[in-house]
Amino acid sequence: MIENPSTPPQTLTGRCMCGAVSYKISAPPVAVGLCHCDRCRPQAGSAFSTVMFVQRDAFEINGETAVFEDVGASGMKALRRYCPQCGSPLMTEADVTPTLFFVKAGGLDQTDWLRPTFEMFVSRRMPWVSALPGAAQFDGNPTL
Ligand SMILES: [Zn+2]
Ligand SMILES: [Zn+2]
Repeated sequence: MIENPSTPPQTLTGRCMCGAVSYKISAPPVAVGLCHCDRCRPQAGSAFSTVMFVQRDAFEINGETAVFEDVGASGMKALRRYCPQCGSPLMTEADVTPTLFFVKAGGLDQTDWLRPTFEMFVSRRMPWVSALPGAAQFDGNPTL
């Protein structure tokens, strides 16, 4: 288990770029990390994505969303939810983790507490991106 070293607010909120979709997280995220996988990179349009592992029963989303039905690294179904208005990626709902959602941290309203403590799929990390000092490194999904 990778603990988050800094304390997040009791309730976290976030939204997509246009604001049509918002969400509320009513329990501290289980973990925060960087993902270098070959799904996060094209979806984020960047070198990696910052993801929070959030308990499903602590997550509430409002607004119309759309889903891209994908297959995760596990070989199991992974729904990638996004805002159909502005295209912002919001979260991944993977069958491999039935109690957790992977929520993109880029839309968070409160970010001062945010400290990624691990990196995953590090073998796919761009050669010009350095490892985060102190972050656990996983070549694939992390063991939580
Ligand atoms: Zn939007
Ligand atoms: Zn990823």
